Amino acid sequence: MNMKKTKIILSAALLWAATGVQAMQSPFQNGVLHFNYQAEKLFSTEAAARAQLEKDLAAFVAMPASERTFENTILGYYRIFQKYHEALGVSGFLAYVSPDKKLRDTVTALQMQISQYMVEVAARRDIYRAIRQYTDTNPQLDPVQAKLVKEMLIGFKYKGMDLNDEDLEKFKSLNKEESQYAIEFDQNIREYKDPLYVTREELNGLGDDYIQKLQKTKDGKYIITLDYPDVVPFMKSAENENARKQLEYKYNRRGGEKNVVLLEKTLALRRQAAALLGYKTYADLQLENRMAKSPKKVMAFLEDLQKKLTPFGKKETKQMVAYKNQKTGQKSRVMYPWESAYWSYQYSKENLQLDSEKIKEYFPSSVVIDGMLELFGGLFGITFEPVRIPVWHEDVKAFQIKDAQDGRLIAYFYMDLYPREGKYKHAACFDLINGEEKPDGSYQTPFVAIVANMNKPSQATPSLLKHSEVETLFHEFGHVLHNALTRAKYAPQAGASVSWDFVEAPSQLLERWAWEPQVLKKISRHYKTGEPLPDDLIQRMIAAKNFGTATAYLRQNFFAQYDMRLHQMNKTPDTTKFYFDLTKKICSIRLTPGTIPQASFGHIMGGYDAGYYGYLWSEVIAEDFFSEFKKHGVFNPQIGLKFRREILEKGSTIEEEDMVRNFLGRPVENEPFLHSIGLNKE
Ligand SMILES: [Zn+2]
Repeated sequence: MNMKKTKIILSAALLWAATGVQAMQSPFQNGVLHFNYQAEKLFSTEAAARAQLEKDLAAFVAMPASERTFENTILGYYRIFQKYHEALGVSGFLAYVSPDKKLRDTVTALQMQISQYMVEVAARRDIYRAIRQYTDTNPQLDPVQAKLVKEMLIGFKYKGMDLNDEDLEKFKSLNKEESQYAIEFDQNIREYKDPLYVTREELNGLGDDYIQKLQKTKDGKYIITLDYPDVVPFMKSAENENARKQLEYKYNRRGGEKNVVLLEKTLALRRQAAALLGYKTYADLQLENRMAKSPKKVMAFLEDLQKKLTPFGKKETKQMVAYKNQKTGQKSRVMYPWESAYWSYQYSKENLQLDSEKIKEYFPSSVVIDGMLELFGGLFGITFEPVRIPVWHEDVKAFQIKDAQDGRLIAYFYMDLYPREGKYKHAACFDLINGEEKPDGSYQTPFVAIVANMNKPSQATPSLLKHSEVETLFHEFGHVLHNALTRAKYAPQAGASVSWDFVEAPSQLLERWAWEPQVLKKISRHYKTGEPLPDDLIQRMIAAKNFGTATAYLRQNFFAQYDMRLHQMNKTPDTTKFYFDLTKKICSIRLTPGTIPQASFGHIMGGYDAGYYGYLWSEVIAEDFFSEFKKHGVFNPQIGLKFRREILEKGSTIEEEDMVRNFLGRPVENEPFLHSIGLNKE
């Protein structure tokens, strides 16, 4: 799983996430993006762009009602902001990826200022009135335009445009405060440092490949940072239980107490805002415009799933505890948080004969990436050509995506795969430039990037990917294609601009190919022997896939319920206690006292609030999509092209439910999902 197109560039996200062309200060140089931004100029550039924006908005408001059209009012409104964002180019993205700390810090500060300003501008009644002047005439619109207008008006409702002056002021200040907290929360996680220092002995159980890459202190200790590539293998393989315990504690304190306060304050703000807009709870507000429509429907979905998963989860835990006791001679009845990854991994190594560190040897990242591009290129009728264009760091690779049939340039695509100091810590897709039809009738080429944190090549080995990283790569690539292949006429409807509970479906679909034996053969080549992944290993991997599935889905279910329940309460609880209690109830796990895992639960603060359920919701849809490929062949380019046309190219130009039906020829069914996690076998 991973983040959606993300909480991208916050400035743009508050309105419509888009930049574009035809600006005076262009983000483009010679038709492609440049990444040359000077920290010291950004604030003055923004000030100038803001002055222009104010001027343009004044003219927009002053336009006589009789002259208003879809073009000059609906698109006109959007283009005014597009011009403003263009002046700052893709500098917002650099807060996440720039190697220059000064630039990152400047952009973060600027983004905070911009997002506050945007909250103000977005709540200007004179602008709303100008738009209503047009929409109240009930203009004749085509269905795509009508959907755009409908969602635009809901957007204004969410901004408090129907409130009286006093309530609107209150509402605006709540929003301002909330967006500031979200940025601080994120920054607290990104900049959080509390490494574990261990001796060589305490690294027993870990591979040389891992150990070689660790930084060392002056007195010869090894530094385990709190980044995934350090933490995950350590929790799985370090024999020293005490060291694991210490690392688990540190890891689950990321973000710090500051973030607990920020989260709890944010929940209160959201509750007040929802009440002002006339919603019963914040969850009701968030869901009105989603595919699921209501919290009731979501909770029913989650609780039903929880009910079906629980007996399987209990069985899995019992089995693991018995295994631990057998190995240690203990008579323990529980599995502690610093033990679960370790014992699961030991168990699967022993019983499922799987060692992800060994499997990794078959997945040099270059082989996987070439294989992935060929696979999805063939399936969706596109090609990828490496291209030399400006990038933001020497590790970044760039490609042109072209139509396989007519050679037309469709999009630019960047890959930034390895960790660096201060870089975004997860895997995500960033849509830098959206597709859209330009005023001259030509189509704006989208620019999309994958940012990830894979193992860096060491002296002895190339960059090797664990199979889970291959899956993540395929997943993010789904977002890339969603954004890159879009043909939406209007940028606000381009690419992954679909409902939050549908946006993961294409990505979750692409993950399925990382489990197909024929695909695994194509994307693997042992870095020493050159052999593809052997058949029996593939079979064992697939057999092992369902190991611990119920536990894993219960965990997802927990995150979704934690999020959904917090946003339906009429009082903020102690979020730590609530986290511990609900974990115990849903996952039957006792968490480590003193940890504050919600302090790094970024989703709940930045975009997935009352939305985390979307992962499971859309997975049900993704499994149904995949059943269509399974039926007609997983390399079938006709089904691939149908998916490209009916889903990937559509963006949010039509309702998700209709899109899904157009592809499947029927409404969604959850049978394929239940089948995939083994639930319909009992
Ligand atoms: Zn995703």
